[in-house]
Amino acid sequence: MTEIDWKDKYRLLAEQQGIDEAEQAEIEALLCRTISRLTLAASGLNPSLDPKLKKIHNAIRNGVNPELKVTLERLLEALMHVSEQEAATGDEIPASDDLFQRLLSRIKHVGKPAAQLNKLIKQLRADPANASDAQLDELLEFIAPKNAVVGSATKPGLFGRIFKQGDNASKDTANAIAIDPNRVLLGLLEKLNWPGYLAGEMAALMVRLGRGADAEAWIPVLDDLGRLVTSALGDIQTEMRATEDFLSELTVRLQELDQYMAGAKSDHVSSSENGQTLDAAVRGEMGKIQRGLSITADLETLKSSISTHLNTIQGHVNIHLEAEEMRRKSASVKEMALRERLHLLEDETAGLHAKVMSAKSKALEDPVTGLPNRIAYDDRLATEVARWKRTKNPLVILVWDIDDFKQINDRFGHLAGDKALGVIGRILSTRPRELDFVGRYGGEEFVMLLVDSNLENAKKLANEIRETISESGFHSSAKEKISITISCGISEFREGDTSDEVFARADEAMYQAKREGKNRVVVAGGSV
Ligand code: GH3
Ligand code: MG
Ligand code: MG
Repeated sequence: MTEIDWKDKYRLLAEQQGIDEAEQAEIEALLCRTISRLTLAASGLNPSLDPKLKKIHNAIRNGVNPELKVTLERLLEALMHVSEQEAATGDEIPASDDLFQRLLSRIKHVGKPAAQLNKLIKQLRADPANASDAQLDELLEFIAPKNAVVGSATKPGLFGRIFKQGDNASKDTANAIAIDPNRVLLGLLEKLNWPGYLAGEMAALMVRLGRGADAEAWIPVLDDLGRLVTSALGDIQTEMRATEDFLSELTVRLQELDQYMAGAKSDHVSSSENGQTLDAAVRGEMGKIQRGLSITADLETLKSSISTHLNTIQGHVNIHLEAEEMRRKSASVKEMALRERLHLLEDETAGLHAKVMSAKSKALEDPVTGLPNRIAYDDRLATEVARWKRTKNPLVILVWDIDDFKQINDRFGHLAGDKALGVIGRILSTRPRELDFVGRYGGEEFVMLLVDSNLENAKKLANEIRETISESGFHSSAKEKISITISCGISEFREGDTSDEVFARADEAMYQAKREGKNRVVVAGGSV
């Protein structure tokens, strides 16, 4: 061979080895996946194998490695051990991934039945499609035996507990519990607390379950009990509805009562005697209701009792209302009469007031001249003096006296004299201002109070008035013109003066005017 031949052969071999390695890796991966799935499928078949299967499942994720090799060897060893154990117990049922077979494998038997079971399973597995009813019944007997102890040697299994029936099972199985449905149901009926009205029917049902009853007596009794309970529930619902209706009616009536009581209070019309009678009656009836509540257990009786007492209360309220209505009408009539009398009194008072005012006015007025009289003067003087003291504004008193008036009376008569007084009064009252005062002091004397006027102005005004009077004169009944004059004295208020002092000075000034010849004005002290 040449050197080139060796090189080609080496290259070919290397390529072949690469292909082999790739195939081997592929096979190895497939093997790992298969082992992984097998470990999952085999889990749960045998508890002693499960931890090892889990380890293999975890180890296989890293591919074929020394750890996997060790784990697989341990599993193999464990499998051998399990086979030996099963062979020793004579149980030849193989572990399987079939749920049905896993179920069978969990049934533990001893002695002859186990051999029969194994044989039966082999037959069924050989041809499951053609399994006969007899074979299936036989298998069922293994799964749910009427008298076999399943699973545990001391406790009955679930199937056994479910399907156990009658006395036969208890006789054949030493550890099974004897259950008599009649007695169970009877005990139940005796323990439950039934409403009084069901007591008779319950007693009859219990008699049917008692001594000497047929073993299956509990079945029709159970049916009848169901019907009875259904009917009782219906009765209870009807009674609850009736109770609700009754309670709503009771609420409405109590609200009416409450509204009336509140109204009666706010009206203030109820006489206390009448109210106390009603209160006592209502309290009495409410007491009876409460006593009824404590001794009556039956709702129907209670309803009837409460309705009766409420009717009685309603009756008392009606009597009370009628009495109140009569009392109100009577009070209304009295009130009307009182109102009329009050109106009359008001009219009388108004009339009296007018009369008093008129009398008062007349009392302050001089009937001959119509001017304010001496009393009115005294009142006004007090007011003006107080004002003067407060303001210090000037205040002047003028005293007037008709000259030789006695002669007028004597010559023309007293009535002519009165007429002359009236004329002079009007002249005197027209000149001063609104704020000033003019009155008849007495006889043929007049008085003036001038406010805010000094002596000079007062004297000037007095002379103007005097002249007017002397010029006017008046006509007597004989149409004779009578001349008349008047004299005037003036004085003003000074610091420290009393009204009597000022009047006295003015009066003295007036007499001075008389002395000086009459028909003149004199200012006290002669200052003006
Ligand atoms: P003098 O000038 O000094 O005042 O003289 P006089 O006559 O006026 O004074 P005197 O006091 O002597 O007389 C007043 C008279 O006035 C007397 C009285 O009859 C009269 N007299 C008083 N009051 C009234 C009255 O109301 N009516 C009438 N007609 N006369 C009256
Ligand atoms: Mg006089
Ligand atoms: Mg006179």
